[in-house]
Amino acid sequence: MASVELRRLTKHYGPVAAVDEVSLKVEHGLLVCLLGPSGCGKTTTLRLIAGFIEPSAGEIHVGSRIVSSPERTLPPEQRNMSMIFQSYALWPHMTVAQNVSYGLTLRKLDRETIAKKLATILATTHLQALADRYPGELSGGQQQRVALARALIVEPETLLLDEPLSNLDANLREEMRFEVRRLHDAYRYTTVYVTHDQSEAMTTADLIAVMNAGKIEQAGTPEEIYDRPRSEFVARFIGSSNIVKGKNLDLSRIAFAGASLLCEGARLASGGETAVSIRQHDIRLLTSPPQTAENIMAATVIRQVFLGDSRDYMVEVAGGTQLRVVAPAEQNIPQGAAVWLHLPPERCRALVG
Ligand code: ADP
Ligand code: MG
Repeated sequence: MASVELRRLTKHYGPVAAVDEVSLKVEHGLLVCLLGPSGCGKTTTLRLIAGFIEPSAGEIHVGSRIVSSPERTLPPEQRNMSMIFQSYALWPHMTVAQNVSYGLTLRKLDRETIAKKLATILATTHLQALADRYPGELSGGQQQRVALARALIVEPETLLLDEPLSNLDANLREEMRFEVRRLHDAYRYTTVYVTHDQSEAMTTADLIAVMNAGKIEQAGTPEEIYDRPRSEFVARFIGSSNIVKGKNLDLSRIAFAGASLLCEGARLASGGETAVSIRQHDIRLLTSPPQTAENIMAATVIRQVFLGDSRDYMVEVAGGTQLRVVAPAEQNIPQGAAVWLHLPPERCRALVG
């Protein structure tokens, strides 16, 4: 049983900090996603954890051991970790069974033990019928399962996955997300899962660490990251937010579109400006002015599109700011109509940075 902890982990390539003082603790048995755009340092972080590269500064702890520091880096084979690469890296000249059992053959286990472990893992990954095929005779999803089986047969404490589903088509990607989660739950190792796909992270992770330019911007449960983004970067990266800006009126209100907007999240500094995020489906459209004035503003419908299960509106408020609103499909308001927007205060998040 081993937690994985990064302490101010840093990796420089020349002047570039690919990973910049990243601190994160993953308790044993959790599945954490490193989520962020291309180039933000996800793969470098994973390679540091695996021990393929050495940190420039900072440490990696696994349980009570320090496995990486600038002074000493334990080689990958002594870490009890398995890593799955984006390309799967299966051996083309070996059958599924040979690919999967390779790690045990290397460890010189006896044939009977290998056969037993192989049968078990082929069964859990639904590969029994394909045991004698070669990788070239498998679909992308099947190859992915072979890569998973090969990584899991050695019973790692920690499983590292680098964009494991990016080579699969959309349907299969969705199915394999659940497969990754199912296997994680069955074996309860610690998983670090790298992806740039927010819905993949939301569906698989216990904990999401959103990365930007080598740093973790925010770490939390999928609900926390989605409902309470702390920065503009996180609010924009995780799904569909409107970001509005205005002068601070007091600790929790900004002036926006002729209204005073009450929000939650960061306390506002007097005299400054603050960005506030609100999800597209959290704004309500009203066709007549309500009794209360709190967080209400007048707007005009610029356009609307029927999407089957909802309607996608673009509305414009005083000052010219346009907001996207996802409304129920049956709420059909024509282009050019006057509307009132209600932005519930508990859905308005004041952001920092
Ligand atoms: P991600 O996996 O999030 O797309 P990477 O960790 O691969 O990002 O890369 C982060 C940054 O570090 C990028 O700017 C990349 O160009 C740089 N980088 C990664 N590996 C190397 C390397 N071996 N040499 C020089 N720069 C590198
Ligand atoms: Mg990468």
